[in-house]
Amino acid sequence: MIQLSKRLQTVADFVKEDAVLADIGSDHAYLPTYLVKKGIIQRAVAGEVVKGPYESALKNVKREAVDEQIMVRLANGLAAIEKSDQIDTVTIAGMGGALIASILEEGKEKLETVERIIAQPNIHAEAIRKWAVLNGWRVVGEKILKEDHKIYEIVVLERGRTTYTEKEQLLGPFLLEEKNEVFHEKWKREMTQWERILDSLKDATEDASVKEKKATLNEKITLVEEVLRN
Ligand code: SAM
Repeated sequence: MIQLSKRLQTVADFVKEDAVLADIGSDHAYLPTYLVKKGIIQRAVAGEVVKGPYESALKNVKREAVDEQIMVRLANGLAAIEKSDQIDTVTIAGMGGALIASILEEGKEKLETVERIIAQPNIHAEAIRKWAVLNGWRVVGEKILKEDHKIYEIVVLERGRTTYTEKEQLLGPFLLEEKNEVFHEKWKREMTQWERILDSLKDATEDASVKEKKATLNEKITLVEEVLRN
């Protein structure tokens, strides 16, 4: 039986029983294979844009004898989804938030039958929350976790209109509510990086773009400091 990493297991835990799944950027297809073998879902599409990982996904689903239930497709983003699949859940894990948001934006019309999107950005989760608000989705669940010294966020979306404050968009409405130890560690790390960037800009020529960059970083630092203090 496939043993998922803590990160992918947390993504898997957000997939509802009997979901019809499209896992985009599936790589080895571990996530859909695990969910099918566990009997949590009946069928899935595993989409991969790069030939090597696509072939390893094909090989794995055959080896695990789930090739009847999992369709592996070589495709860019949501182009892996066909209308007749009747996909209701999309997972996109292990990429940057901006890339995930662009995959969702470019393939919007493929989301017609989708009720839940589970995104696991390695960085910049705010890009996903921003995309959600602009496109009629809202955050219904979030998790933050640490594995092998890396910190990951998971953002779960369902349909619905909402707005978020700047703070909620950056830090996550649910994560902000919980403010657990990993959350504190993540944002302390981010602040250290922002301060490093500010320091490196100290001697830069103060043109408009440097000024704007400094102002944005200072705003973010003030916002996060306040959150971590309270
Ligand atoms: N989802 C798996 C996980 O979380 O362990 C694999 C993550 S791996 C770091 C990212 C995968 O996404 C790579 O295999 C990459 O080829 C694929 N990928 C990147 N951009 C993609 C796109 N536009 N469409 C489909 N797959 C993509």
